[in-house]
Amino acid sequence: MTETEVLVVGGGPGGYVAAIRAAQYDLDVTLVEMDAYGGTCLNRGCIPSKALISAANVAHEARTSEAMGISAEVDVDFESMVDWKDGIVRNMGRSVEKLCKANRVSLVEGRAEFVDEHTAAVYGADGEELDRIAFEHAVLATGSRPIELPGFGFDQPGVLDAEQALARSELPDSLVVVGAGYIGMELSTVFAKLGVDVTVVEALDEMMPGFTADLVAPVRSAADDLGIEVDYGQLAADCESADEGVVVTTEDVDDETTSEYAADAVLVAVGRQPVTDTMGLDALGLATDEDGFVPTDEQCRTELDHVFAVGDVAGEPMLAHAGSTEGEVAAAVLAGRDASMADRAIPAVAFTSPEIASVGMSEEEADNAGLDVTAGEFPMRASGRALTTGHADGFVRLVAGDEGTVLGGEVVGPEASELIAEITLAVEHGLTVEDLAETVHAHPTLAESVHEAAANGLGLAIHTLNR
Ligand code: FAD
Ligand code: NAD
Repeated sequence: MTETEVLVVGGGPGGYVAAIRAAQYDLDVTLVEMDAYGGTCLNRGCIPSKALISAANVAHEARTSEAMGISAEVDVDFESMVDWKDGIVRNMGRSVEKLCKANRVSLVEGRAEFVDEHTAAVYGADGEELDRIAFEHAVLATGSRPIELPGFGFDQPGVLDAEQALARSELPDSLVVVGAGYIGMELSTVFAKLGVDVTVVEALDEMMPGFTADLVAPVRSAADDLGIEVDYGQLAADCESADEGVVVTTEDVDDETTSEYAADAVLVAVGRQPVTDTMGLDALGLATDEDGFVPTDEQCRTELDHVFAVGDVAGEPMLAHAGSTEGEVAAAVLAGRDASMADRAIPAVAFTSPEIASVGMSEEEADNAGLDVTAGEFPMRASGRALTTGHADGFVRLVAGDEGTVLGGEVVGPEASELIAEITLAVEHGLTVEDLAETVHAHPTLAESVHEAAANGLGLAIHTLNR
């Protein structure tokens, strides 16, 4: 029997961050991981998908930069691209392991299953019991897995989840993608840029639900330019696997007519669900909510005082940085410090083409909340730097409330994923649009567009007409 102050179950961005931070606070920490350190994000999510997005962008840019005087015949060796991506994942996995050890986190490979409120058994891959761990506190960080649609078994030939799509060593000629959300649109773009014939079927009448419509509009038109067909109002109903590929049947949500889509493979990306069936929650004495998540309070504490839950298993937003922040909060609370997730500004970024990002309240949300709202905008086409990158589609929008306090922001365009950081800082720390407008931004940079949007909100824009 091993004894530990803090048992962390799961080594993804929620779990390993909680473990390292708790160890930094001088707690004795044991982290149990049943698969690979870094979890979904590092091994089959954020990092491999962003690697392929970058690689596909290089190929696409080379093919489409005639206006800059560049023309090139591009030869994509997909196997090498995949090797490069896998190398990044391997190295980062080793780094996570080393960081844990360097911070004196004890690492245990196996599946942790609770036996009672203060004990967990650890099982190896063959189901043999390797150890028992007695713990004072536990942090649940078991993450999520893809939702499997009836008729689309992930063990069926040609039916892929994101992990399988990212692990392929050969490109299909054609691909049907079910779901125009984060994974559907990020990976459709990758495959289309690599020459795959992509059709997306989406149940709703919009892509990227949750983001404001005008933010998504440039992504819709870029998808169109890439030859991605997006069929809206189509509910994926069934999938037949054949020797040559798959035939996906969809049902129109309005008139219930059916359509068939034949392709080499189908990627199903209709959302993710929490993983709670690996760790014996019953024996711990915890129940899940109606959506299957482990309920937590603002300090990431579950209904049991000595048990915390962080990351995807603890609910939306299912984003890596949200999980890591929860890991930091849980560790701080465990160490007797003051920390909370209340009022934290958590950005959301889709690495689509172009990228979209948002944080805090949208203008509509602020209006609906009855706040006195001022908005400032800046179109990327007025940014010298955006024009010099050849990508000037998109805009920055800032939303401010009383006394100019920044309530939120939205960005679509080049490097939206980076630009949102400054707006997140403003929302998190209650900065005003004046603060942003008075801050000198280097020229020529994309970041100037945040400065210009702030000035626009104040009626003092130089490079655009005021809103
Ligand atoms: P996970 O990363 O899922 O880790 C949970 C870990 O727990 C796993 O390693 C699992 O093996 C382990 N585990 C489970 N049960 C047990 C047990 N009983 N004992 C021991 N170990 C156990 N988010 C972003 O913010 N940005 C992105 O760009 C992004 N891209 C994504 C792309 C794809 C294709 C996918 C699928 C997801 C993406 N996400 C992205 C979401 C992100 O991956 C998750 O939000 C994040 O991984 C959640 O972290 P976590 O620590 O909660 O869980
Ligand atoms: P998602 O929730 O983003 O999108 C799912 C889409 O599938 C929705 O548009 C939904 O309307 C559609 N859909 C559902 N059932 C359908 C059906 N039967 N037929 C047709 N369409 C259907 O889910 P996802 O793309 O699987 O991603 C899962 C989660 O992973 C995301 O919500 C996010 O939390 C995380 N993620 C984040 C990033 C990022 O931060 N850049 C990238 C990838 C994934």
